Amino acid sequence: MSTTAVIGGGIAGLVAAWEISRHGQQVALLEAAPRVGGVIATEQVAGFLMEGGPDSFLAGRPEMMSLCAELGLAAELIGQRSRRVLIYDGQRLVELPPGKAAEVLELSTGGGEAGDAFSLRGGLGVVVDALAARLAGRIRTGARVVAVMRAGAGFRLMLEPAEPVEADAVILAVPAPAASGLVRHLDRELATTLADCAYGSSATISLAYPREAVRHPLDAAGLVIPRGVARAVVACTFASSKFAGRAPAGSVLLRAFVGRYGDASLLDADDAALVAAVEGELEPLLGLAAPADRWQVFRWPAAIPRYDDAHRARVGWIRERAAAADVLLAGAAYDGIGLSDCVASAKVAGSAALGAASVR
Ligand SMILES: Cc1cc2nc3c(=O)[nH]c(=O)nc-3n(C[C@H](O)[C@H](O)[C@H](O)COP(=O)(O)OP(=O)(O)OC[C@H]3O[C@@H](n4cnc5c(N)ncnc54)[C@H](O)[C@@H]3O)c2cc1C
Repeated sequence: MSTTAVIGGGIAGLVAAWEISRHGQQVALLEAAPRVGGVIATEQVAGFLMEGGPDSFLAGRPEMMSLCAELGLAAELIGQRSRRVLIYDGQRLVELPPGKAAEVLELSTGGGEAGDAFSLRGGLGVVVDALAARLAGRIRTGARVVAVMRAGAGFRLMLEPAEPVEADAVILAVPAPAASGLVRHLDRELATTLADCAYGSSATISLAYPREAVRHPLDAAGLVIPRGVARAVVACTFASSKFAGRAPAGSVLLRAFVGRYGDASLLDADDAALVAAVEGELEPLLGLAAPADRWQVFRWPAAIPRYDDAHRARVGWIRERAAAADVLLAGAAYDGIGLSDCVASAKVAGSAALGAASVR
């Protein structure tokens, strides 16, 4: 039976691998980090549920909803409690017209992203855990692939520091700069063009307070801050207002988003300095009476793709060249950064691998 190697164990790699394995084909998922999930990072800390990466998906696209249903997680879905988003106009917080947050945050969406946000009672990590459980025995963590080479009709994957892995087909579910390094022996021009895809760096800072330490009513899902108004904070989710079960009774959880595209300098600061800068900017907006009881910083260097005007044409070209090299692509680098976009791209790549296996 033919084996497909999926490189990268974020949501895209996990879904692509599951798509293949549930149709009875062999798959090996190789993930460089010690854990799968990629930028999905859910942590339970002293009764707080902190999302280090994404915290929700939008119902305007069906893929994440369907995935949760397929994984038997439909009963775990929870909806956003408040749809209000506030914007700081330089003087005060005012209500932002619905659907405008992504625009203010300058995020690249794949289109069609709208509607209420959903998560799961136990956070998005529940989806990662469910996929990992279904792929038990087929996932290798701590397995960094450094190059993909041709080997007869198939491929040889060079791993650091482990022995090479042979595969009949390959799905690259890694960020574009990583994909660039992997394909350099297959197609140098493809590698160069993948390296042209721009990425932004960011950090999220989860801040936990006793309820009485925050004077603002927190009667919204969060706030956004337009470019040029604040130095550190780009947005702040009122995590315990947005979703149930994010903070113990009598406490609140905020989540600040730091790092604007083109200005990641603040991310060089150490954790304590970053927290101080964030609290300094939130204090006049939310009325913080004391520093956070506990905080957690999650750093995401070069993790969010930034699609420029040439992106669509570049991706068309990349997909053609990758197809000519028999390599399949999935993930946020190509057709949208939202979780549903990533799931959609993974299902397409998984199906293509199945189709190729059936004629092999
Ligand atoms: C802070 C933040 C907040 C976000 N918020 C939202 C949100 O609320 N809603 C939403 O829909 N989207 C959100 N997004 C976007 C969305 O989460 C991502 O686009 C999506 O999770 C990316 O998944 P992926 O599988 O493509 O990539 P990743 O999650 O980046 O996974 C790629 C994996 O490949 C591995 N890898 C890299 N190189 C190699 C190698 N050489 N060998 C082996 N493995 C390798 C990495 O370790 C990683 O695990 C957010 C993103 C970030 C960073």
